[in-house]
Amino acid sequence: MSEIQNNIASIRKVMEENAIIANRQVDGVSLIAVSKVQSDARIEAALDAGQRVFGENKVQEATSHWAERRNDYADLRLHLIGPLQTNKVKQAVELFDVIETLDRPKLADALGKEMKKQGRSLDIFIQVNTGEEEQKSGVLPCDLQDLFAYACDVCGLNVVGLMCLPPAGEPAGLHFGFLKTLADRLGLAQVSMGMSGDYDKAIRYGATHIRVGSALFGAREYS
Ligand SMILES: *Cc1c(COP(=O)(O)O)cnc(C)c1O
Repeated sequence: MSEIQNNIASIRKVMEENAIIANRQVDGVSLIAVSKVQSDARIEAALDAGQRVFGENKVQEATSHWAERRNDYADLRLHLIGPLQTNKVKQAVELFDVIETLDRPKLADALGKEMKKQGRSLDIFIQVNTGEEEQKSGVLPCDLQDLFAYACDVCGLNVVGLMCLPPAGEPAGLHFGFLKTLADRLGLAQVSMGMSGDYDKAIRYGATHIRVGSALFGAREYS
């Protein structure tokens, strides 16, 4: 077994244990392998291990990782989990299957127009700044309902869920519980939350998507 195959097996085990605790089906949780800053060798190892759902936080880097590989795997699903600038929307709509970081009306406009142009319909998550942190992207909770209505009704986007990144140094569970409540209120079934350090907890709070990088691939080596 490769190291990455091992890591995936361990993560799946933790997923199962926590799904049982939460009285949920583990099939209801999708493991997104966050491949940002990872080497080609590690990405190949994850693909060899059968992993097919990946997350990237930069459009440019995602293109270099996936533009070619995408043709070899019909069942690949790519999630954008980092902030999206409107000048990268065209490239993002070409490459990704899911955008998790819608956070403003202007971006909703641009995505709606570009998807129409390309004849593609991506799944969209709205990123919520649950900690109301100044420097963090994500819509404020008080503006969520308006953005949701605008994205669906005016821009024709297929909004399927909510995503959050809790503030460092605060109990993540509070934010996970809050995000799940917001999603329930809007009738949204999907919730993307939890990373290497807290995906177990996120599953207990109802995550349908967990975004796991270093626990799956090993530590990111920034050059
Ligand atoms: C990098 C990143 C992750 C994965 O982080 P790990 O701690 O390595 O699991 C998850 N979500 C987002 C938005 C990220 O940028």
